[in-house]
Amino acid sequence: MSDEKHMNSRRKVLIKAVRGIGLMGLGGAIWGTTARKLKASDMVLRPPGALEEKNFVKACIRCGTCVETCPYDTLKLATLDDNIAIGTPFFEPRSIPCYMCPDVPCVPVCPSGALDIKGIAKQDASGKTAEPDINKARMGVAVVDEETCLAYWGIQCDACYRICPLIGEAITLDYKRNERTGKHAFLEPHINSEICTGCGLCEHACVTEKAAIFILPRNIATGKVGAHYIKGWDIADEDRLKNKDEDRAKETSPEDILNDWEDLFNDD
Ligand code: SF4
Ligand code: SF4
Ligand code: SF4
Repeated sequence: MSDEKHMNSRRKVLIKAVRGIGLMGLGGAIWGTTARKLKASDMVLRPPGALEEKNFVKACIRCGTCVETCPYDTLKLATLDDNIAIGTPFFEPRSIPCYMCPDVPCVPVCPSGALDIKGIAKQDASGKTAEPDINKARMGVAVVDEETCLAYWGIQCDACYRICPLIGEAITLDYKRNERTGKHAFLEPHINSEICTGCGLCEHACVTEKAAIFILPRNIATGKVGAHYIKGWDIADEDRLKNKDEDRAKETSPEDILNDWEDLFNDD
């Protein structure tokens, strides 16, 4: 793209983003609404490699370069109507998902580090980060509504499963006998949240009127177990327990206990 065309296209993106802001001169009442809308929404989905939401909003300079670079028009810059920090990029997978470009063109062009290539980079043999790997992106995580997913009704549908770029890893189909009919099976989609990138191709492909599989930001969709629960069947997790016990033993060594007693009788 020539420099002039590049500038024109960037201008168009920015004009689109700030179109609503021109109305702000209408007075204090409207400014109140605007201020509320400037608050970052918890539900927003950001491009691959985005920093954690609060840091992302601080770092993004609203230049629109990632939006321009995306070949699928997946990314948009937020306007006043979006209830997201104005001018920041986001995507809505039901309309246009992230197509998981292998070269992730939207990330290296970010001038501010709000999209951080290190967050999605492969490591080379020496442990240094090399080129980006879109499979490492964690834009969100897919969630299945078992009440409205047709596969959970026993109707044959695997649209989300077939479209997934990480088929059989991020999404699997679990076979279950349909006791209601006695002769059919349920093939229920399940998400592996550790592998799902949150690209939203599944949400885009879902055949129900409102998608029965949809992408949520990871902090909304996932729980937190707490460090004291251990997976007894997982050696790595067992090691975590051993290390924790050793750390605790170090923290309360006999010397520490003696020192505590000395402190107890110390009049100073
Ligand atoms: S990875 Fe590709 S499709 Fe996804 S947001 Fe970036 S440029 Fe767009
Ligand atoms: S390229 Fe980076 S700084 Fe520019 S709008 Fe996209 S995320 Fe923000
Ligand atoms: S969002 Fe859907 S299509 Fe994308 S990786 Fe996750 S399960 Fe697969």
